[in-house]
Amino acid sequence: MSQDIEHVKCLIIGSGPAGYTAAIYASRADLRPVMYTGMLAGGQLTQTTEVENFPGYPDGIMGPEMMEDFRKQAERLGTDIRFGYVSSVDFSSLPHKVTVDESKTILADTVIISTGASAKWLGLESEQKYSGFGVSACAVCDGFFFKGQDVAIVGAGDTAAEEATYLAKLCRKVYMIVRRDEFRASKAMVHRVLNTPNIEVLYNTETIEILGDGQSVNAVKVCNNQTNEGRTLDVTGFFVAIGHKPNTDIFRGVINMDETGYIITRPGSTETNIEGVFCCGDAQDHIYRQAVTAAGTGCMAAIDAERYLAAKEHVVTA
Ligand code: NDP
Repeated sequence: MSQDIEHVKCLIIGSGPAGYTAAIYASRADLRPVMYTGMLAGGQLTQTTEVENFPGYPDGIMGPEMMEDFRKQAERLGTDIRFGYVSSVDFSSLPHKVTVDESKTILADTVIISTGASAKWLGLESEQKYSGFGVSACAVCDGFFFKGQDVAIVGAGDTAAEEATYLAKLCRKVYMIVRRDEFRASKAMVHRVLNTPNIEVLYNTETIEILGDGQSVNAVKVCNNQTNEGRTLDVTGFFVAIGHKPNTDIFRGVINMDETGYIITRPGSTETNIEGVFCCGDAQDHIYRQAVTAAGTGCMAAIDAERYLAAKEHVVTA
């Protein structure tokens, strides 16, 4: 076999909490997993600051440090972790064929997809500058840091509505920045927002800039797109809730996914519509999107892969 073709029992694509947990379980089940990390090794958590809601860290932990712990644990148990990017897949026959960095071919008996999702951002320079220092794309993760303070959230879908009401319970005041004169969110969610006294909805409003002292956020400049009237909101937190994009482009047309690109798994399982291909974490979850839920489904994917291989072996040798 040429050096550029390698046969593995279990290939894990992506290295967030889902991928590393799958790796830990697959290693312990003797599947000798090979993981390709993707370009952002460690995933979304490497771009956050403090994580306080992952069980097992009583004092909280910095996101990048936590992912380093995940990596070390997977590696200690035997996962072959490689930096590389899966550029295409061919799931039309077994073993599955996966191309890495457009050059190397991996033949895999099972594939675990844990490529995650990425939050959409407004694209402002100041948003990037204060990301993790007052700017966040996850109210459930970071709302607690703004307890009793004034914050703003941008977006008008179900996520924004849900996160605004979540923040309203923790914060003194929540400004909701909505770019049109109406919400996209469901009627029930809008009703909840409009009936929460400490949420002020700013319709027809766009974010111009996030202001701060270089260390943290202290205000947000917004503008009414109908009147051109500007306004400065004195807030210490700025939440972006304008949607997520699952990192599943390479699987488009290959595997069943919904219209946004989330991979569809059989309920209560990580099985996809392709035999031997499993999906876990944010690539298949638009609802919870938490590190701990991603890790939970990562565990499920490794168990599903192990049982799939065991069942096949049983059939062959029976
Ligand atoms: P959506 O795509 O539904 O909504 C995105 C929102 O962000 C829209 O209101 C959009 O405005 C706004 N937006 C997009 N880009 C910008 C921008 N550049 N500036 C300002 N605003 C912007 O994403 P969600 O994450 O809210 O929801 C994703 C899916 O998940 C939906 O199907 C939703 O129903 C579902 N979901 C369900 C929940 C539940 O049932 N409990 C909870 C959370 C999500 P505009 O409307 O003007 O396009």
